[in-house]
Amino acid sequence: DLPGSTANSDAAHEVLRRVFGYDSFRGLQREIVEQVIAGGDALVLMPTGGGKSLCYQIPALVRPGVGVVISPLIALMQDQVDALTALGVRAGFLNSTQFPDERRTVEAQFLAGELDLLYLAPERLGVESTLNLLDRGKVSVFAIDEAHCVSQWGHDFRPHYLALSVLHERWPDVPRIALTATATQKTAAEIAERLDLTRARHFVAGFDRPNIQYRIEPKNRPDQQLLAFITGEHAGEAGIVYCLSRNSVEKTAEFLTRNGVEAVPYHAGLDARVRAANQSRFLREDGLVVVATIAFGMGIDKPDVRFVAHLDLPKSVEGYYQETGRAGRDGLPSTAWMVYGLADVVQQRKLIDSSDGDAAHRRQLQQHLDAMLALCETVECRRTQLLAYFGQRGEPCGNCDTCLNPPESWDGTVAAQKVLSTVLRLKRERSQSFGAGHIIDILLGKSNPKVVQHNHNELKVFGIGADLRDVEWRGAIRQLLAQRLLAVHGEYGVLVLTEASDEVLFSGRKVMLRREPERTKAAKAPRAK
Ligand code: ADP
Ligand code: ZN
Repeated sequence: DLPGSTANSDAAHEVLRRVFGYDSFRGLQREIVEQVIAGGDALVLMPTGGGKSLCYQIPALVRPGVGVVISPLIALMQDQVDALTALGVRAGFLNSTQFPDERRTVEAQFLAGELDLLYLAPERLGVESTLNLLDRGKVSVFAIDEAHCVSQWGHDFRPHYLALSVLHERWPDVPRIALTATATQKTAAEIAERLDLTRARHFVAGFDRPNIQYRIEPKNRPDQQLLAFITGEHAGEAGIVYCLSRNSVEKTAEFLTRNGVEAVPYHAGLDARVRAANQSRFLREDGLVVVATIAFGMGIDKPDVRFVAHLDLPKSVEGYYQETGRAGRDGLPSTAWMVYGLADVVQQRKLIDSSDGDAAHRRQLQQHLDAMLALCETVECRRTQLLAYFGQRGEPCGNCDTCLNPPESWDGTVAAQKVLSTVLRLKRERSQSFGAGHIIDILLGKSNPKVVQHNHNELKVFGIGADLRDVEWRGAIRQLLAQRLLAVHGEYGVLVLTEASDEVLFSGRKVMLRREPERTKAAKAPRAK
């Protein structure tokens, strides 16, 4: 080692101990900190709870000048500054929520070199006066937190992040460190490109969270399933329940409270004071459940969240990973539990169809959804699949539902052919606008009014699926969607064939399906007709 790097390393350690009170660096922290102190750029991919903050806070304290942290989490800036102040670190922030005189005070401190860290909302950098301010002071390092917000196709895109390339153009000598907890290799490459970090060293921490048990179950009666899960496994413990809509957030919170599980709602439609109060109750109290939309959680540092439950399908594996990652930051056993069903697929598809953006954007969203569905329907270890999504390898983990209770798979080729030929038949009849429920009614041979009205009881396929039950057909259709052998379109969840459907219908392609859990149980008892 060069003498300089030893000195840097000693200085970093000294700050770690003296300021933060920790004995040793964790994981990649030491290498990252040394890279930045030496003036190099870094791109850090590290899971939530991995300890990203120290990666820029320590260089900011060791290098001369003020460390400037770009963060979209305006609501948390005050807390972050307070926490640092308590440690004796001189910190301030600039964002749109401040009064002009507060802002002026912070600016004066920055110019006088009286700050170690300055938190900045990204939109501040679009203001020329901020850029001038930074010119007049001395910046030791730029830290770009939640760097995935620069990814236009990602789930957290913030247009202001695109302007962050200005940092390198205007201050080429100041080292930059970009950090995120959610990035595939592809997103990482996009971040590097957009932030002009092509020469940065990449640091990719292990994404595995071994203390989190992953479980995904078919959705039947979600409220009851959730209640049974919480009371059965996590009674009296803190947890987060994610729902897609504000309405279901409120209903679910009420339902839980009525059934003896203390729960509060959190979504963007609530009064700001109620929201803040619920969030701070969640942080302070033991064993409170918060039912929330995904608006909740970014930047929340509560170590003892024992479970994260999803009542609706997340839009992407990144989103799922980030949300479930809020469980078990203290390293103790925790559960990531989810229920999902056919209706989720239809609903997500609807959201994609009605989203802004061009065809390429929609294709991207569809790919995200497909990856999420593949995770839901896998017969292999969930963790292995999750890590593979982030480009990392793993062995079957023994701590997910598919490892603990390996799903049986069965040759579903004939069942798939029945479904697909029904869809094909309806297409030939030029009456293609039917959803899964109608297709299943035809397969089961139910002469209900809608079937009769369209003369679908006269189709050749009518009743050819009596060998399976309704839930099994639903499961089969869900899995055909996940395997892209079937697709869903439009507002009403119309089922349509894909290119790959032909291979099943006409070229003898084999289709393996996973058995629905109910059937395993039901198979023991005589089956009701
Ligand atoms: P992230 O930003 O990656 O989600 P944080 O920076 O908030 O993670 O760190 C998560 C927790 O780990 C914090 O409570 C932090 O104090 C703690 N931590 C970070 N680094 C260390 C370390 N080297 N030794 C002990 N605790 C650490
Ligand atoms: Zn597993």
